[in-house]
Amino acid sequence: MMARFRSAAYAGLILCMTFGMASGKAEAKSGMEHKNFGRTQDGQSAELYVLTNKNGMQAEVTNYGATLVALRVPDRDGKLGDVILGYDNVAGYEAGASYLGATVGRYANRIAHGKFSLNGNTYTLPKNDGENTLHGGTMGFNKHYWTTKDVSSDAGPALQLAYLSKDGEEGFPGNLNITVTYSLVVDRNELRIEYRATTDKDTVINVSNHAYYNLAGQGNGDILKHELKLYASRFTPVDQTLIPTGELRDVKGTPFDFTKATAIGARIDQDEQQLKYGKGYDHNWVLDQKAKGLPAPAAEAYDPQSGRVLEISTTEPGVQFYSGNFLDGTIHGKEGKVYGHRFAFCLETQHFPDSPNHPDFPTTVLKPGQHFHSSSTYRFSTRK
Ligand code: BGC
Repeated sequence: MMARFRSAAYAGLILCMTFGMASGKAEAKSGMEHKNFGRTQDGQSAELYVLTNKNGMQAEVTNYGATLVALRVPDRDGKLGDVILGYDNVAGYEAGASYLGATVGRYANRIAHGKFSLNGNTYTLPKNDGENTLHGGTMGFNKHYWTTKDVSSDAGPALQLAYLSKDGEEGFPGNLNITVTYSLVVDRNELRIEYRATTDKDTVINVSNHAYYNLAGQGNGDILKHELKLYASRFTPVDQTLIPTGELRDVKGTPFDFTKATAIGARIDQDEQQLKYGKGYDHNWVLDQKAKGLPAPAAEAYDPQSGRVLEISTTEPGVQFYSGNFLDGTIHGKEGKVYGHRFAFCLETQHFPDSPNHPDFPTTVLKPGQHFHSSSTYRFSTRK
């Protein structure tokens, strides 16, 4: 009896230390901590930054690849669960080829035949996806260390990561100075990811976060029953190598119509050419934005099992919805979880794939003197 009382009192003490008791409601201490995240093969050690808001929501970010490692949000019973795929340490990210949680760039998504021209010059990039360049080439932003700065404020904990992508890196022109800032809203379950960049030569830029979501908790089965809504009435159909044909196609009457919330699995295996090319969904949707560059709703996902809801808003004109078609059980992720076929989905806010070769698409050109800015928010709530 006594022992039980003592351990209960001890647990209470620990709880009070981590959760303040303001206004009778358990409140977590908002802030940022960091710890060691292992070493890469060159002997460099990586850091893991843990951002916590007053509700106990947590985001973990490593300086390797400016990667989002974990995101803990409550389910409908208030139980925190990690809703993104990842690895337990930096070695996993160094060896990994699936961009789990990564900051992808200098050009997120594909560039056809590893080539584009700008101002009459042709630039050649590494081909790391068949004939095409994917997510910035073989050594994209996700394979470099970034420098970090704590930029937290009363609005919430925030971590800024900076990287200089040198002129000619992976074939891209211009020294590009880029920062990515991850911040949590102090009293609301919302993550914001903000990108800023400048260049000293005309270049192209398309950056995105490549988190793989499973709102039932990472590693907890496939995402086919998640319901998805996309604020998009058109998408960019692709050829068999997943390069846009240039057409902006109406989603009406196709399995690409997510204008009303629909289970991801409802139509994914239909006998349809675009679904066959993608082996499921792996396409860019054209967002129905009212004003260019202003934040607008992009997507909403709901998991009926946990009740978790994710709402994404962005300043970007497109979103790549990828249904985890290439996950095949070979990745052994966090906490011993194995990531099987379609165990997660990505919603990559971005400019359209292969824009440098499509003058009709919104431009991805950045010139000296211009300030690149892109921002996306990921808001979590629950539904009964
Ligand atoms: C691409 C997929 C690719 C995945 C992981 C997504 O952005 O569209 O085709 O398999 O990234 O590399």
